[in-house]
Amino acid sequence: MVRRMSNLSMAQLLFPEIDKTPEDYEKMYPARNLPEGAKVTRFAPSPTGFLHFGSLFAAFISAKTAGNDGVFYLRIEDTDKKREVENGVIGMVNGLKDFGLVPDEGAMSETEESGEYGPYTQSRRTAIYQAYVKSLVEQGLAYPCFMTEQEIADVRAGQEKEKELPGIYGKYAKYRDISVEDAKARIENGDEYVVRLKSPGKPDGRISYKDEVKGKIEMPENILDIVLLKKDGTPTYHFAHAIDDHLMHTTHVTRGDEWLSSVPIHLQLFRVLGFKAPKYAHIAPIMKEDAETGGKRKLSKRKDPEAAVSYYSEMGYPKGAVNEYLMTIANSNYEDWRRANKTESIDKFEFKLSKMSKAGALFDLVKLHDISKTYISTMTADEVYNDVCDWSAQYDSELNELVTRDTEYAKKIFSIERGNKKPRKDIGKWSEVKDYIAYFYDELFDGARGWADNIDKADIKTVLERYLEIYDHNGTADAWFPQVQELAVELGFAKTPKEYKNDPDSYKGHVGDVAGIIRVAVTGRLNTPDLYTIMQTLGESKVKERITDAVKGL
Ligand code: GLU
Repeated sequence: MVRRMSNLSMAQLLFPEIDKTPEDYEKMYPARNLPEGAKVTRFAPSPTGFLHFGSLFAAFISAKTAGNDGVFYLRIEDTDKKREVENGVIGMVNGLKDFGLVPDEGAMSETEESGEYGPYTQSRRTAIYQAYVKSLVEQGLAYPCFMTEQEIADVRAGQEKEKELPGIYGKYAKYRDISVEDAKARIENGDEYVVRLKSPGKPDGRISYKDEVKGKIEMPENILDIVLLKKDGTPTYHFAHAIDDHLMHTTHVTRGDEWLSSVPIHLQLFRVLGFKAPKYAHIAPIMKEDAETGGKRKLSKRKDPEAAVSYYSEMGYPKGAVNEYLMTIANSNYEDWRRANKTESIDKFEFKLSKMSKAGALFDLVKLHDISKTYISTMTADEVYNDVCDWSAQYDSELNELVTRDTEYAKKIFSIERGNKKPRKDIGKWSEVKDYIAYFYDELFDGARGWADNIDKADIKTVLERYLEIYDHNGTADAWFPQVQELAVELGFAKTPKEYKNDPDSYKGHVGDVAGIIRVAVTGRLNTPDLYTIMQTLGESKVKERITDAVKGL
């Protein structure tokens, strides 16, 4: 390591206050004490408060990569003050938590954090970045650049005209060899400057590395003298990433593939800094079929409400269902695994970065809904009840009032056709619950409507009047249907659909029509779960009241 006197003076001129060295920080951030092969990953958002579904997906991938043995931490990258919003951190933390993603360490709110490798918010790490930049200046690997914005714009315009690579490098790097004296005079004059890397890249140099998702990648080497520290002394994303992922001992950088083109810069920074580079896994964006063009495009914050993760909370998709869906788009072999392991925890599935789609998974709300229906069908009545209470407390006070008024009654409703071998898949999200349970509550029930139009109104009336007379609330489930059959026969309906089909002219309809009439009277619907159970849940007087009212309404 050559440390010329002038480099040392330059470093001292730029960073007189910085007295710690990289060696000091290496000691403060020792290797993690983890089992062999354990992975350390992070989710590193800007604190914009807005959590995009794609970011949730990236965080999910990071968390799954770390698995149970490793560490998944949250780092707040607030070097771009323009993107920040008030309480943005807590917004991100809660956004993750809503889907069960709780980092093992890192930022927890604007002011709190946990873990030994902090601070986990970049704006609190300025002295660390500066210590490393100071050391690079000492080694002649970085320099102050006093180019004005106008000068840079002029350089760019010229490069554009000549169709050259844009940026500050080679002959455009005006201050690469600035002397200490010159720098001192400019600083004393109040001139602003950034600190740039003296890139060791060669114009025809190439780099190659193995991306954990994309496979082998080859790209031109970086030759740009990129900015390490901005005018205000804060780091650029590139530089902060290298320092942080090194000191925090990240083993796998999982991030959106918009960063793929920056890899040559990052690998160069790791090399210049003398760090071992982490493994990179670049995740393709989640795509969506564009209704207008028929083509594919990125899921868009502007066009798609489902791009915001708050959408899933508002709609009431259970976090377990969203996790199921995330894993389905993460690893295409997950669905087969799930079919073969219906009741296993998702954590038992072995997620692999190498099995991720290189091109970008297609987002499919219908599929999510379907997965969610299956997921909810496997929940117990108590679990459904608790989730519905939590969701409605936040999003639907009327529903909340109804289900909490009589807990036992609500749980009975959610128990209907649940827990058996083939549970019903009626509910896809909690915002559908109100409609699903409407006929159990007078406040929501809007009367017997929707009679099948193949039966005369007069016959409907007769069926209901007779049924009121024979209705036996204490009868068993097994006795229920035969009784309806008897009634059907008595009133000129066929005992079975088959009998009716063989000789339709002899009947008014068949037993299914009779049951349907009772169903509509009691629930207002043609389709419901098991009617006997519904009637048992509603109670005798309510059933009779509904049927009486239905007759009146005819
Ligand atoms: N802060 C970067 C972003 O907002 C994170 C990129 C990374 O994970 O390295 O996208």
